[in-house]
Amino acid sequence: MITIKDKTFVPFITAEAIQTRIQELAEQINQAYAGKTPLMVVVLNGAFLFAADLAKQLTIPCEITFLRVSSYKGTESTGQLKEILGLTESVAGRDLIVVEDIVDTGKTLGDIRDQLQAQSPASLAIATLLFKPEALRNPIDLQYVGFEIENKFVLGYGLDYDGLGRNTPDILVLE
Ligand code: 5GP
Ligand code: MG
Ligand code: MG
Repeated sequence: MITIKDKTFVPFITAEAIQTRIQELAEQINQAYAGKTPLMVVVLNGAFLFAADLAKQLTIPCEITFLRVSSYKGTESTGQLKEILGLTESVAGRDLIVVEDIVDTGKTLGDIRDQLQAQSPASLAIATLLFKPEALRNPIDLQYVGFEIENKFVLGYGLDYDGLGRNTPDILVLE
């Protein structure tokens, strides 16, 4: 159990279960990308531990890079577009595996996917550790999903509450 500010979080997914599932995802990726050299595009900050543990289980050659998305809402006519920041590599012609911590409404990944697709990658797959199907508002194809979870706020193993709690080996859920 962890208390951060006014919120108490209780155990949800153990470190051991996370690592077992990551090994399974890595085996799928190793098979799917045999003979290729994918570029892992890691969405900071939340995916940093998942990406590190996943990358250590990959036996195919792969490159790893990082991006963030702007947290402010843009003024596009579409409204609330999250812009990609910090990605300097060309993704044209590359086999991309976007690595994310959690898909909630799907808005963030939808924006990332659309902006990456506009740069003509050879392929684009998404690996997310967590997925809340009940919260999804934006249809999105997810090729590699660690755990489907209920629509509750979770913390740990990269995910934060108000900047804190990212550094736990387990995932906890709001009590
Ligand atoms: P979406 O755009 O899919 O609604 O939200 C995705 C982002 O919201 C995630 O990358 C994450 O930063 C944050 N988020 C969504 N659900 C949770 C949650 O249960 N816990 C935490 N800590 N962050 C979440
Ligand atoms: Mg995230
Ligand atoms: Mg956060």
